[in-house]
Amino acid sequence: MRPACPHCQLLLDRGSRDFFIGAYLINLIIAEVLFATLVGSIVYATWPAVTWDALQYIAVVAIIVAPLTTYPFTKTLWLAFDLSFSPPTARDRATTTT
Ligand SMILES: [Zn+2]
Repeated sequence: MRPACPHCQLLLDRGSRDFFIGAYLINLIIAEVLFATLVGSIVYATWPAVTWDALQYIAVVAIIVAPLTTYPFTKTLWLAFDLSFSPPTARDRATTTT
């Protein structure tokens, strides 16, 4: 992820040490909802002959891949959420040294 937006120079890390805990929280929620939806859909589609062994392997892969895949998007989603409550100041812009 780039340190600042290439268009408006907004810093994507707002400097707070625990800023991205919110991104972790949103990532966990989205990944778990995706995971539950996937498993629920497979069970629903294959009921009553659910292949539980295959579902177990799919679930393990999905629960590892889902948070890794969604993390970059949830970081920017959390940044947008944070900016809605604390608008950017001049301090939040990258300065160019030319
Ligand atoms: Zn921008």
